[in-house]
Amino acid sequence: VNLDEQAGKAILAAAGIPVPRGRVVETAQDAAEAAEGRPSVIKAQVPVGRRGKAGGVLFATTGREAGVAASQILGLVIDGHRVERVLVEELLPIRHEYYVAITFDAAGKGPVVLLSAQGGMEVEEASSGALRRLSVNILDGFTPAQAAALVEGVEHGAAVAAILLKLYAVWRDTKAELLEINPLAVLADGSVVAADCKLVLDDAVQGGQAALSATATPLERQAAALGFNFHQLGGSVAVLANGAGLTMATLDMVRHAGGTPANFLEIGGDAYTKAKPALELVLALPGLRSLVVNFCGAYARTDVMAGGVIEAWQALAPAIPIFFSIHGTGEDEAVALVRDRLGIEPFDLAEDAVRAAVEAAR
Ligand code: GDP
Ligand code: MN
Repeated sequence: VNLDEQAGKAILAAAGIPVPRGRVVETAQDAAEAAEGRPSVIKAQVPVGRRGKAGGVLFATTGREAGVAASQILGLVIDGHRVERVLVEELLPIRHEYYVAITFDAAGKGPVVLLSAQGGMEVEEASSGALRRLSVNILDGFTPAQAAALVEGVEHGAAVAAILLKLYAVWRDTKAELLEINPLAVLADGSVVAADCKLVLDDAVQGGQAALSATATPLERQAAALGFNFHQLGGSVAVLANGAGLTMATLDMVRHAGGTPANFLEIGGDAYTKAKPALELVLALPGLRSLVVNFCGAYARTDVMAGGVIEAWQALAPAIPIFFSIHGTGEDEAVALVRDRLGIEPFDLAEDAVRAAVEAAR
């Protein structure tokens, strides 16, 4: 998962790395207030880079200007992400910008620390010769001597090296895939501050959950507590399928048919026993217009899964329409169950079920 800037900075701050003072807000009015009458920078909180070039980073000298800037940024769509929150931060008197990243190097089979003295928004264009790389032996870790060697001859080297050691500790302790600070800013007084933060956590790592929960919605947290792998996607067509692969394929089909998926929910072969809590979660999604159920059975019987969903559907009696496509083990029995108990006809092709659900959501 790619944390947004503020969630990443909170983790940095907890590790003793200086970050700017700031607050996340959702309205222009709150942004004006959060600026506290001082010069500020207003930044779109979306988990992608290059927001600056997309108009997602603006500067303001007064609270009123901060409000105007926030109203310009809120609602922008940057790299497919609609901006719903902005970070209002104190404006730093930046004297110099460094680029710093810690990640895995497949060729070196270990961590690598990257440093460029030409950070900021043009770092991609900077000559690659300016990029310093240091491979870390995972057994020894990133040592103070290595940090000192990496910053040799760089302005403010000692201060940058001290921060690099702390950043490495964060990367290691969060078991991150990538920690990138651009810019790592040297201020007029010589202090070093992480002015931006991109922290990409490894979803397969347990304990990344704690950081994850910082960005989870209340519904997602509720789902996690129930043991579901559930994500809110913001669209109007809910998807219930067995297995993560089929679920993702179904989400793609919804998009392909011109619709917007509302959720990812991995329900697996537990559709019978967990159908009710799963449906309750899905039905609590805001803006929901239809539900498509796509089952494909191999070892798990589709009639057992369909039975669970039908039972829950009848108990909850939702107002939205439901569309089925069922294939594999127990298919004939499953189709008969849907037909007899819900009085609707499952679709032969998953594609057609999806198309009908998208149509109904319009
Ligand atoms: P990105 O474009 O998504 O990487 O967003 P950043 O957070 O890195 O902001 C873009 C650029 O705005 C940075 O590279 C800085 O040059 C500039 N910037 C961000 N915060 C400040 C600040 O507090 N003071 C100053 N002077 N510039 C800033
Ligand atoms: Mn940046």
